[in-house]
Amino acid sequence: MAQEPDQYSDIRAGVERLCQQFPGAYWREKDETRSYPVEFVEALTESGYLSVMIPEAYGGAGLPLGAACVILEEIHRSGCNGGACHAQMYTMGTLLRHGSEAQKQRYLPDIAVGKLRLQAFGVTEPNSGTDTTRIATRAVRDGDDYVVNGQKIWISRAEHSDLMVLLVRTADRAASAKSTDGMSVLLVDMRSALGNGLTIKPIKTMMNHGATELFFDDLRVPVGNRIGEEGAGFRYIMDGMNAERILIAAECIGDARYFVASAARYATEREVFGGPIGGNQGVQFPIARAHIQTEAAAGMVARAVGLFESGASCGAEANMAKLLASEASWGAGDTCIQTHGGFGFAVDYDIERKFRETRLYQVAPISTNLILSHVATHELGMPKSF
Ligand SMILES: Cc1cc2nc3c(=O)[nH]c(=O)nc-3n(C[C@H](O)[C@H](O)[C@H](O)COP(=O)(O)OP(=O)(O)OC[C@H]3O[C@@H](n4cnc5c(N)ncnc54)[C@H](O)[C@@H]3O)c2cc1C
Repeated sequence: MAQEPDQYSDIRAGVERLCQQFPGAYWREKDETRSYPVEFVEALTESGYLSVMIPEAYGGAGLPLGAACVILEEIHRSGCNGGACHAQMYTMGTLLRHGSEAQKQRYLPDIAVGKLRLQAFGVTEPNSGTDTTRIATRAVRDGDDYVVNGQKIWISRAEHSDLMVLLVRTADRAASAKSTDGMSVLLVDMRSALGNGLTIKPIKTMMNHGATELFFDDLRVPVGNRIGEEGAGFRYIMDGMNAERILIAAECIGDARYFVASAARYATEREVFGGPIGGNQGVQFPIARAHIQTEAAAGMVARAVGLFESGASCGAEANMAKLLASEASWGAGDTCIQTHGGFGFAVDYDIERKFRETRLYQVAPISTNLILSHVATHELGMPKSF
């Protein structure tokens, strides 16, 4: 296939080299023991890949979203997984866009060099689900502090993060002019919070993602740690969602390319009935279809990146890219397992692990139905169901 010029070919090659130090055996061991890939995250941090989007003035590389997409895509294409650390790339944006200059000076340079980890992002709650306006975690002002009470669920990497961007209610939903008003964003220092009003409980999931439940019991957070205006937090969080969706879509493209390449290779090598199984159209066509769907989704990701970087509105494209890419990676994973027959289920082949890992992206950070609803109502003007 003709390759378009890749302005980030150096970054792509560098990430590929780094990933070669973390082969399947490394990820299998982490998966089996449900442990955090510390060495991988450290290597990425030291090489500067996690801070590419932090402006040069704060110690980062100041590169646009497309560079971060290439990094995450390449990690996933190489058989690795960026889920342990990808949040830093988009969570940092909330601080960068809406934090005060003093907050940015205080945190961003340390994040850029890896002294501080900003990996946790606390929005989802057990009783609100996707309806974020119904979050119940409450922050009440008491002197120079907010006192936080409530609960979050599915918060990834909370045990491996120094800071967390946390969405709370500072005014009741019923007392707010709009349901999206009355929420605020706090930057929580997990190191001092843990054991002083914050309890973290890990949740065991079907893949190694470091998901947790958080309980807040009179946690004190300085008012100085509020990002932006009180009551405007929902908008700040929404602001970061397009970048998050595009970055996750790039990871899915990486997964899909991993699956397509693995399937094509195996189909060419594996001989049954006296010839390679890939010589049968029943085996090769699904792989070709997975490839076509992957490249179509990659086109939408590129379009979303272009719009995002030019400052144009890209909500529809970011959502469509995430939907198409997550479905392409799932479809490619399914084809890859089918191509491998029994070996698709063998842990040592890594395919079943990647298959489990890529399934998440049809649910998080936003589920497919909610994307369809967004497109149906915002793009096509149909009535809202909620
Ligand atoms: C491993 C993992 C890691 C996560 N990490 C984080 C994190 O770091 N931080 C964070 O804040 N959150 C995180 N999440 C939460 C994730 O964003 C949510 O799980 C996701 O947005 C779906 O919300 P929910 O689970 O509450 O599902 P619900 O909102 O309960 O929805 C359940 C199902 O119903 C469908 N549905 C709901 N309402 C409608 C409707 N009106 N029309 C049609 N269909 C509908 C949904 O599409 C979904 O399929 C994580 C989740 C997982 C599983």
